[in-house]
Amino acid sequence: MGELLANYSLKSLNTFGVEAKARYFMEVSSLEALRAVLQLPEVKNLPLLVLGEGSNVLFTRHFEGLVLKINLKGIKFLGKDSQFYYIQAAAGENWHQFVQTCLANHWAGVENLSLIPGTVGAAPVQNIGAYGVELKDVFYQLEAVDITSGKLCVFSKQDCQFGYRDSIFKRQVKGKYIITSVTFQLFQEPRINISYGNVKQTLAEMGITQPTIWDVSRAIIHIRQSKLPCPTRLGNAGSFFKNPEVPQEQATFLKSLYPHMPFYPSEKPGKVKLAAGWLIEQCGWKGKRIGKVGTYDRQALVVVNYGGASGAEIWQLAEQIRASVAEKFNLWLEPEVQVF
Ligand code: FAD
Ligand code: NAP
Repeated sequence: MGELLANYSLKSLNTFGVEAKARYFMEVSSLEALRAVLQLPEVKNLPLLVLGEGSNVLFTRHFEGLVLKINLKGIKFLGKDSQFYYIQAAAGENWHQFVQTCLANHWAGVENLSLIPGTVGAAPVQNIGAYGVELKDVFYQLEAVDITSGKLCVFSKQDCQFGYRDSIFKRQVKGKYIITSVTFQLFQEPRINISYGNVKQTLAEMGITQPTIWDVSRAIIHIRQSKLPCPTRLGNAGSFFKNPEVPQEQATFLKSLYPHMPFYPSEKPGKVKLAAGWLIEQCGWKGKRIGKVGTYDRQALVVVNYGGASGAEIWQLAEQIRASVAEKFNLWLEPEVQVF
């Protein structure tokens, strides 16, 4: 078992790069170690925070409990049927490296999710998505340890209740399970999906007319690198807020006031998805900097730490952004980032 460390700095373990100390911290690399640490008397009744690569969290204060960094590793081919390959990846695998392994083995379906930071284990928590594909499109089942009983449980796709950047792990069972592995069903015959935004155009600029899954991945990596700040250079956690899904009537009303407002279909009946980045930009926040914090100049939805900011300062800015969107559009943005 790893060492239980007290008063441990989480600064290098979150992509905002903010300082926060964990009362206790431990890295776990096996299921046995995971079960054992949950029984330690020092931590048994303390709040628990499971950490992957810290790319979707904001620490606004010290964490008065146990932070467990999940370091379980391994990617296994479980078998195939007429349509799919079944691949199990341990929760601590890096997501993008998992995507690369899939590409190398001709396992199709995750290419549009290239270069998303974080771990495999965190991916179902918010049903990660990008460029028209979501984790749920390739998800088969996951295994998770119940933190009260230590039992290993299986969650099917239906159990996970996936929604737009959402799952049961953000709601009913929040903080109750530690995901230890995810099994994917990946396509034997690729289904190329390049309908989203500028993917097709980028491929055309690359001179590609009949894209393979590797071409799609390369195009998306190229777009992401040109549009998003790299957290090692500029602290951030990607999109700070979720795109709001509003009733059709509200969208129609807003469209009558702002004819250029982008909107997209939502999977929720009677709802329409608006672009949070556009709403924030209309309030004058794009590229704006206040002291050590601000928004990224190429995407207003990305809140950034320009250096030395605290989590509380970042949260204060996020609250200001929220208030101005509420005032202008009568809409309350919901953070996508998990705030502690
Ligand atoms: P963490 O930040 O460590 O944790 C996130 C949440 O999941 C926390 O609540 C944590 O407690 C919980 N958690 C983590 N691991 C486990 C586990 N094993 N069991 C149970 N709970 C767990 N997201 C997208 O959806 N699409 C994108 O395109 C995208 N682009 C991004 C771009 C940038 C530059 C950045 C910085 C972030 C981006 N994100 C995106 C957000 C982030 O990459 C994802 O949410 C990712 O899945 C987080 O993984 P993580 O390991 O860093 O999780
Ligand atoms: P973008 O392409 O500038 O688009 C802005 C927003 O409009 C996106 O949030 C997207 O919603 C929506 N959108 C655009 N085209 C769409 C379409 N054809 N159908 C449905 N919705 C559409 O966005 P971006 O910031 O550069 O991000 C590109 C992709 O990467 C998006 O899918 C985004 O979610 C993902 N991304 C996510 C994060 C994160 O932290 N969550 C960070 C960076 C990028 P969706 O978000 O629902 O796709």
